[in-house]
Amino acid sequence: FVSKLPEVPTSIFSVMSTLAIKHNALNLSQGFPNFESDSKLIEAVNKAMNDGKNQYAPMPGVFSLRKAIATKMENLYGVSYNPETEITITAGATQAIFTAIAATIKKDDEVIIFKPAYDSYEPTIQLFGGKTIAVQLNPEDFKIDWKLVKGLISDKTKMIIINTPHNPSGRILTKQDMLQLETLLKNTNIILLSDEVYEHIIFDGEQHQSAALFPALAERAFITASFGKTFHNTGWKVGYCLAPKELMDEFRKVHQFNVFSVNHPTQVALAEHLKTPNNYLELNSFYQQKRDLFLSLIKDSKFEFIPSKGTYFQLLNFKNITDESDYDFAVRLTQEQKIAAIPISVFNQHKLDTKVLRFCFAKTDETLKQAASILNSI
Ligand code: PMP
Ligand code: GLN
Repeated sequence: FVSKLPEVPTSIFSVMSTLAIKHNALNLSQGFPNFESDSKLIEAVNKAMNDGKNQYAPMPGVFSLRKAIATKMENLYGVSYNPETEITITAGATQAIFTAIAATIKKDDEVIIFKPAYDSYEPTIQLFGGKTIAVQLNPEDFKIDWKLVKGLISDKTKMIIINTPHNPSGRILTKQDMLQLETLLKNTNIILLSDEVYEHIIFDGEQHQSAALFPALAERAFITASFGKTFHNTGWKVGYCLAPKELMDEFRKVHQFNVFSVNHPTQVALAEHLKTPNNYLELNSFYQQKRDLFLSLIKDSKFEFIPSKGTYFQLLNFKNITDESDYDFAVRLTQEQKIAAIPISVFNQHKLDTKVLRFCFAKTDETLKQAASILNSI
């Protein structure tokens, strides 16, 4: 037996959350809120179950949910996605990403990604015989050098994957970035996978630059999104994918044999919840308050930081504290100081020895205060 993924370890999110539980540590590693989803949404799931929505949902997703997503895209970005043919509900964004790659990437196709990158992209590309072409982002500002990207594009390039707001760095792509990408991709057959799971968590009055807003990007893009991030229910694993019909037809050919369809009662409840724009529009200020609280509490600690621009993650640089690798430091912090974080070298396959940890601030103010008090004592 020959492994298809010989070098792929257990995901760092499992590793750190398991370690946090073992050592009874505050878990600011894996990204998930430690507060509940809106009680109305939970009641709506109960109601959907009591109303008998307990058998298979339609293969592409509950229609009212697809329609509510189309309305949101129209209202927020002025773009039109046909709920019949261009929107599919998925088991979280992870399955949307997996399915988009599975449906399009074959042996020797090249896929450009930016590192540090969310950990599912590269193994999924590898599984289908694709070759990852990694662009290392500058560890200070995580900006993309588009000239460098241009130099990496060849006739083998099949896809480029972007992520804004960016996990783990919290940087966002600007309109200028998207226009440069548009220029690069115009008149090519390159597919864009735009991972926008944190679209509603963006700070300081900045606007999310969805690929949907740029016609030469939208016409070639799979856009992936996640309700888990937006409605505080990562455990429900419901997300979606948007794409023009031609791409979505291919996506659904795989989706129907991957999960066929997604959890039914949660989709019914999410459809109603999404119809109230404030349910997602208030998220920016909700999380900005948490970012600001966390950073104000640790401003005199030995950690250095540049405030996150989006996502619910904050990077902290620990070069003033220890020479350990970020992985060793993260393990020791969990064991000895009872606080868990993600070492970001893992998103770089350990190739870059940056002294940086990622902390998730999707936590109650109480937890953030406890976390800050530990970080201030180090
Ligand atoms: N992409 C990024 C950048 C993420 O941070 C996450 C969640 N950690 C996902 C995709 C997956 O989202 P989901 O939990 O909905 O599968
Ligand atoms: N997206 C979350 C994070 O970055 C975790 C996702 C997962 O556990 N697979 O922490």
